[in-house]
Amino acid sequence: MQRDLKRRIANIKGVAQESIFLGNGSDEAIDLMYRIFCRPGVDNAVAIEPTYGMYGVCADINDVEYRRVLMDDDFQPNADKILAAIDSNTKLVFFCSPNNPSANNIDRKVIDRVLDSFDGIVIVDEAYIDFAGVPSYLRQLDSRPNLIVLQTFSKAWGMAGIRLGMAFAQPEIIGIMNKVKYPYNVNLLTQQRAMEEVMQYDRVQGWVESILKERTRLMAEFAKLDCCIKVYPSDANFFLARVKDAATTYNYLVDCGIIVRNRSKIALCGNSLRVTIGTVVENNALLDALRAFNN
Ligand SMILES: *Cc1c(COP(=O)(O)O)cnc(C)c1O
Repeated sequence: MQRDLKRRIANIKGVAQESIFLGNGSDEAIDLMYRIFCRPGVDNAVAIEPTYGMYGVCADINDVEYRRVLMDDDFQPNADKILAAIDSNTKLVFFCSPNNPSANNIDRKVIDRVLDSFDGIVIVDEAYIDFAGVPSYLRQLDSRPNLIVLQTFSKAWGMAGIRLGMAFAQPEIIGIMNKVKYPYNVNLLTQQRAMEEVMQYDRVQGWVESILKERTRLMAEFAKLDCCIKVYPSDANFFLARVKDAATTYNYLVDCGIIVRNRSKIALCGNSLRVTIGTVVENNALLDALRAFNN
């Protein structure tokens, strides 16, 4: 039950210990949502599109229909479209805010309306909340029995390798998650490593600040590149950019020893690359490489 670690996290996040689930990455919590709330071959889940791929992967693995509701060109969902996709077998609605891969905060009015009018589970994945500059949905936990908020140690905390994710909900839901998870899902070494880090939580704030500063600089410089058509606004530690030719640009960067993600095959992301904000040295290497790239 990871009680020592949960006590610390409860302090940092301002939630009750009984409202915290810890998993082997937040990916474990996503899989548990299907296993707990959905009947295979019968129920369905609704999600914004494009978004984080694991919601769809876990739906497929659990034989649950996955309904994608395409967002507008500015990567904002439409509440009417989401509500229209919901039927009596819909058990889960997934939001990701800031959204991966578009990097923007999702309109709270849309999330709130779905929370108000749908009596199934609404998941708000806040993997990138530390960069978002807006309040977390954790503040709504007490008033919303159908809300599950996901956060993780993999992003702002910089500890993707220890595999530690968090789900927050009212104690009734957390109780069920604790019953369904494997008894020893989070190993002791992970708990110890996370404990060391939560004891010096202020370091994370410093990392976030330096990434935000670099984000402003890198996005402004990226927008000036010949290969760039458009840089989309970002509330995360990465940004999405439309370029003239994503495949050629991606392959050129690989040859330079730089890996970005080519998101071209994803809805609304034609010819788009997703670029993570690195260190000053890494960001300069990316800019120098692309300035020398004539395409
Ligand atoms: C990275 C990421 C996760 C998963 O994180 P883990 O805790 O490492 O499993 C979840 N959701 C989104 C949107 C992510 O980008």
